[in-house]
Parts: sequence; structure tokens; C-alpha cells
Amino acid sequence: MERSIRRADVVIAGGGASGLAAAIELGMKAQALDVLVIEKMPEPGRKIRATGSGRCNISNTGAAGFSRIMEFFREIGLVTRTYENGLVYPYSESAADVAALLTERAASLGVEFACGEEIMSVRYVPASLVSDAAPGSSNVFRLESVIKDRDGLKNITTYASFVILAMGGKAGPTFGTIGDGYRIARNIGHSVVTPVPALTGIECSEWDEDNEPCAVTLGGTRSSGVVSLYKDRQEVFGEETRIFEEAGEIQFTKYGISGICVFNMTRHMRYDRRAGESLDEFLVKIDLFPDGDIAEYISDRQAGRFADTPAGEILRTVLREPLADYIIASADSGPDENGRSLADRELSSLGDDEIRAIADRVHSLEFHPARIRGWNDAQVTMGGVSLDEINEATSESLLVKGLYITGELADRDFQCGGYNLSNAFITGLAAADDISQ
Ligand SMILES: Cc1cc2nc3c(=O)[nH]c(=O)nc-3n(C[C@H](O)[C@H](O)[C@H](O)COP(=O)(O)OP(=O)(O)OC[C@H]3O[C@@H](n4cnc5c(N)ncnc54)[C@H](O)[C@@H]3O)c2cc1C
Repeated sequence: MERSIRRADVVIAGGGASGLAAAIELGMKAQALDVLVIEKMPEPGRKIRATGSGRCNISNTGAAGFSRIMEFFREIGLVTRTYENGLVYPYSESAADVAALLTERAASLGVEFACGEEIMSVRYVPASLVSDAAPGSSNVFRLESVIKDRDGLKNITTYASFVILAMGGKAGPTFGTIGDGYRIARNIGHSVVTPVPALTGIECSEWDEDNEPCAVTLGGTRSSGVVSLYKDRQEVFGEETRIFEEAGEIQFTKYGISGICVFNMTRHMRYDRRAGESLDEFLVKIDLFPDGDIAEYISDRQAGRFADTPAGEILRTVLREPLADYIIASADSGPDENGRSLADRELSSLGDDEIRAIADRVHSLEFHPARIRGWNDAQVTMGGVSLDEINEATSESLLVKGLYITGELADRDFQCGGYNLSNAFITGLAAADDISQ
């Protein structure tokens, strides 16, 4: 087995959004330092390429450090456009271009890249072990990494004065993030808040085959509305138990619900199994007609020229067909004396209680979460290296001098809208600024 040893002033562990921002900043501000990015994927920034559905929502006017992030983009020549809702994209709306630009800028500033190389461990060792350790330093970092290729296995030891751990979390494992950073941070003394997937879809028990009516029929339907999340151990779910509400587009899928407002809701669905909590304590309600009172709308039509129109048809004038059919089937308490379903009955035959049953579902359609979608579907990780152990201003570890923990690896996650990339950029820049001083 081949083995080699090398040295760098700064090793950046992980060439994602945070690692690349730190690399460029070091390249610009600390030209005298040898900076090495070790990235396990064949090229840096694989996840960046997938962000924002290929458009890369790189920041948000409301993100912490927004002006600093924009200054950085200007410095590296990235032209952006800001939409009225505060979302910022590259002008080209190409995530691949952003990844390529960040990598090129870092390389042109002299940053070295070692791609296809996986870091296995990071240790803090006495400087006496290293022949050319910086004078006066008592400890240095020793990183062990491997390259696996057609030629076999190669082990590499790297000594460094500073290490930036920018290895991301566990969301989107196909982009190289399977949680290696947690093991490495733990081994060097840090504690890790249990990572769970967030910004992802929710599987609901209404989709179970034996559910009547089964919500599988909704798969592929989209609707704007307001989603609300309720949490209650007693499962009573009164209004006072509402913990989240957001308007947006709800996507009904083959397993449950999705869409940006649903993604954001998952950040509030943390529960502690060891404390006996479960997903049963959550209930999702969706208002599909937030702009008015559907009962009034139906009553109006009952009195007018739509009196003979089947109720199901009337509901389809407001909601997409699968949703209208699902709702009226859920509100149906059984066929009338002529064997007709609620959907088939003319509007004039509906009693107040039946209109109320339809309205309750339109304004408060309930779904019971059965499972939060896993890492493959999630956009971020909730949990990570404890923030109690990281200097917020510099990203430096409060336990190990010279070690920095940036981006999603730390226990920070944000709603959709460019906040997570912003966090990766700003914490990477903070680490680089601290090292360059
Ligand atoms: C599909 C998708 C879309 C998204 N869209 C957006 C969006 O539009 N806007 C937004 O703000 N956020 C978005 N996010 C979230 C955002 O991409 C992340 O929060 C952000 O990339 C985190 O940056 P990071 O540098 O901390 O980690 P990452 O960007 O995940 O980078 C970590 C890097 O470390 C490398 N690595 C891991 N382990 C090792 C190891 N052992 N050795 C060497 N290298 C290693 C990985 O290969 C990876 O390249 C999206 C996420 C996904 C999955």
C-alpha cells in the first residue's frame, strides 16, 4: 500500500459551499499561507450544482451577514439578481456556473485541491512529531486520508497548523455528505446534537391503502394554501397547540405532502424518541381556500342558478379535481336513500351540517405524519456540532485552538430561500478572516 506525507498551513476539509468560500478568502487575504482543500468527490461543489433546482438560490436579503456575502460575490466577480421576495440568484441562474466560478477563483489564487480523497481522521498532535513544524507551535493537526482508485489504495498523512472542518451534514448523500464530519468532530472532542433530515417531504397515514378515502389519488396535484402544524402530546390539537403556519404551494405526492412551505414545516417536527415522543404528536392542517369562507360560497350557489348542479362539480370550480373529489368523499357520511354519494347530489339537497362538513375539510384538511422523508430527499441537516463549542464570530472551536467548524456541519439550519448557503458562505468567510489575521 502506497503512503505519503505532506504539509500545508491550512487544510480545508470539504470543498463545498463553505470550504470554497473559505479557500478563496484565504487566497485573497493570506497569500503567504499554503491552503489545501481535500474533497472526497471527484470535483468540488457537487452539491452546489444541485441547489435551487439547478438555479442556486445563493442568498437572501434577510440572511445574517447578507452584505458581507454580497461583498464577497462582488470581489469574485459573481453577478447576482435579487427578487422582490429577497431571494438572490446568480444572474445566469446556473448553479453549475457558481460551482465552477468558486473552484476556478480558488485555484487561480493558488489554493491546492486534492479531489477524490477522503479524510478519515483529524487529530491534534504534538508538533515534535513534525520535522518542519512552524517555530513555537506546540501542537499541529494530523489528517489521515485515503484515495481509492484503479491503482489501489493510497494513504496520505497531512500536517497542518489550521484545519477548517467544512464537511457538511448528512442531507443529499449522493453529493458526498454522509455525516463523516460528525465522527471526525466527535473524535477530536466535540459533541454532536443528533442529526435529523429537514427541508423534506412528509409521508402521511392518509396515504395508507386501507384508508378510506385513500389520499393516493392526490399524487401529482398542486394547490396554493396555508399549512399549519399542531403539536400536542394528548393529540387534542386545539388552536393553542399550533406551532407553525405558512402560506405557499402544497405539492401532493405519491407518498404524502411536499413543497417549500411543507419543507419549512419539517424544521419544527423535531421529537425525542428517548423521551417517549413520536410523530403521532403532530397534526398537519391545510386551508385550501384561505381567501374566503367556502360554506358561504356553497350557500350562495345553493340559492342561485347552480341549485341543481352536483355538489362535486361545484367544489371543482374552486379546487383541482383530485382535491375536490377527495374532500367531498371525506365529508360523505354515506349514500342517500337513492344511493347517491354526496358528490353526485344536487347542491339544493345539501343540509347545513353537510355544507359544514365540506367546509371543515376545505379549510382544515387534516394529515397525520407517519414519516419524515430521509436523507436522500432532505435539503439540510438539523443538528450537528454543538454551537456551545464554537465561537460564533470566528467559527473557531472553543475546545481545540486552530480548528474551525463551518457550514452545515455545525448545529445550524434555516428555512428555504437561500439561508443555508448563506450560512455556509458566512461561516467559511469568518474562519478564513480569523486565520488570515
Ligand atoms: C438538493 C439540494 C438543494 C439545495 N438548494 C439550496 C438552495 O437553493 N439555497 C440554499 O441556501 N441552500 C440549498 N441547499 C442546502 C445547501 O446546499 C447546504 O446547506 C450547503 O451546501 C452546506 O454547505 P457546506 O459547505 O456546509 O456543505 P456541503 O456543501 O455539503 O459540502 C461539504 C463537502 O464536504 C465533502 N466531504 C464530506 N465528507 C468528506 C470527507 N470525509 N473527506 C473529504 N471531503 C468530504 C463533501 O463531498 C462536500 O463536497 C440545498 C441542498 C440540497 C441537497
